[in-house]
Amino acid sequence: MDEIIAKIDDPEMLDQIEKIIPFHGYLSTGAFIGLQILQIARKLLDIKEDDKVYVTCETFNCLPDPFQILCGCTVGNKGLKMLDYDKMAVTINKAAEPGAKSVKAVRIILDPEKTVNYPVFHAWYMNERKISHEEAISELIKAGEDVYTWKFVDMPVPVKNKKDVAICKDCGESYVRYDDEDLCKGCYSSD
Ligand SMILES: [Zn+2]
Repeated sequence: MDEIIAKIDDPEMLDQIEKIIPFHGYLSTGAFIGLQILQIARKLLDIKEDDKVYVTCETFNCLPDPFQILCGCTVGNKGLKMLDYDKMAVTINKAAEPGAKSVKAVRIILDPEKTVNYPVFHAWYMNERKISHEEAISELIKAGEDVYTWKFVDMPVPVKNKKDVAICKDCGESYVRYDDEDLCKGCYSSD
């Protein structure tokens, strides 16, 4: 992998890779895809270093990690929303203007109609045969933006409701209630 990384001559990307490796554990192909998606989004939405961004990631596999370590988007700070669709797709937006009901976002996918032009990488993407991360990532470096497709979408700004805290009738523990249900979600779903 070091050989592959040595071929990257963009100092900013190298710096980002150095942060991703200890966070994710190693440079996986999925993490590298996340990094490339982030770079595309930065350009399309004019995201500056200190801008707060919001990310919706459509797979739990590797892809969310670059956004967590490089943009500080986490599940806990609501910067990262996870959809368990097992899709190589990420939607990114900056913070909305105060009072706005929606904000311009961009959804970027790893597009199989484009990866087909990079046969080794396409074989990795379609899981046709065993391709090493080294092989897959060196193809991605060659391809750059060429394997991604994006479109701008309107992302609704979530409405904050007042927190209604209740005590569960079953377990006696407190929970945040969103409707008139008098059981916490844990007890409700184990019924
Ligand atoms: Zn309960």
